[in-house]
Amino acid sequence: MAFISSQTITNSARSLRLCRRCISTPPKFSHSAIHGSSAISPARTRFAPSPTGYLHLGSLRTALFNYLLAKRTGGQFLLRIEDTDKKRTVEGAEEGIFDALRWAGLQWDEGPLVGGEFGPYRQSERTELHRKHVDILLEEGHAYRCYCAPQRLEALALTRKNSGQSTDYDRYCLNSPPTTSTTEPHVVRLKVPVQYPPYHDLVYGTITSGARSHDHSIGAFEDPILLKSDGMPTYHLANVVDDHFMNITHVVRATEWMPSTPKHVHLYSCFGWTPPKFVHIGLLQDMRGRKLSKRTGDVFVSEFREKGYLPEALNNFVALMGWSHAGESDVLDMRKLVEQFSTDGLTTGNTKVEFGKLDFLQKQYVRNRVMEGSGDKEILGAVEARVRKEFGEKYSLYSQKRQLSLFVLADSTVA
Ligand code: GLU
Repeated sequence: MAFISSQTITNSARSLRLCRRCISTPPKFSHSAIHGSSAISPARTRFAPSPTGYLHLGSLRTALFNYLLAKRTGGQFLLRIEDTDKKRTVEGAEEGIFDALRWAGLQWDEGPLVGGEFGPYRQSERTELHRKHVDILLEEGHAYRCYCAPQRLEALALTRKNSGQSTDYDRYCLNSPPTTSTTEPHVVRLKVPVQYPPYHDLVYGTITSGARSHDHSIGAFEDPILLKSDGMPTYHLANVVDDHFMNITHVVRATEWMPSTPKHVHLYSCFGWTPPKFVHIGLLQDMRGRKLSKRTGDVFVSEFREKGYLPEALNNFVALMGWSHAGESDVLDMRKLVEQFSTDGLTTGNTKVEFGKLDFLQKQYVRNRVMEGSGDKEILGAVEARVRKEFGEKYSLYSQKRQLSLFVLADSTVA
């Protein structure tokens, strides 16, 4: 259990140094390299959404790639809810995520509702562990308490912005002792290194571009906040600590998180931990190269589901975005996706989403289901809902004959 470690800290630590040693024990799980189809070591992957809304098509793809890598290698796929930012948490979003993932067939091996050895799987239930690790960073000089009032920070940022400079922090509180009054409102900041170390990404290769951590000439330092004034950890800290204690071997996530990765790699090194493998995947865009958003049409899994798209069609559709395979056909059900998945097939860059392909795939899967005699009810239900919506109640289904004719409709048009 992840909290065995945290418990160990509470019970046996006489000093933070001792504490650091016990909680820095490398994960039991092997972190040996897993590359593409030659993978033999089981991968432990995680999908780590924040419960801020419905599951986006791009998030379904992230979850799917994590799932496929775990299943391809005989490993585990975890679900972790990153809910430390209470202001952004939307009521019911978590349930919506569970529901959408299950509908898509991406059942997690460990996580909320199913439990597991490395829980709890909601970050907000792990804050004790996060705070202990902030203490370690403070003690070892990798982090410092910052008492600057928001007004001071705003004024600093404004002055710098007006003179065209970086708005980063000026390390005014750098030398505040780790034990200075902890009752005064403050945050804890990470002291970034002079240069972030390069890291290796399985898709993008060696990344050095995230090396900017400060601008000495004007005394501006990135020094991101690790612990907020309300005592809650930020994404950087919680993400790294939890990935470590959940023995995650591969972090598969969107490229929008790439700027965070150098900070994470630095945090791993402060703790003396081996980082997981990083696998960044490009963003989904509309045909004009804009980020796929509500503005440009349907983007949530629930919307495609309501329209009657089948989960296998949607999975197949998103799997083909930014991933290429050696097979002859693009029609790949979950079994084939698992068989063929390899991180070697992931491509760099963003992907333009062409929805015609989804309709093509839907047609294939509707035909398959009808031929196999499976899922008739679901297909008919979807077609009926669509017909009702388009033409009103008078066209609702009431006879066997009409239902049969809808099979034809499903097979040829709606699909
Ligand atoms: N909570 C982040 C998100 O909402 C997780 C990013 C990551 O996978 O590290 O996507």
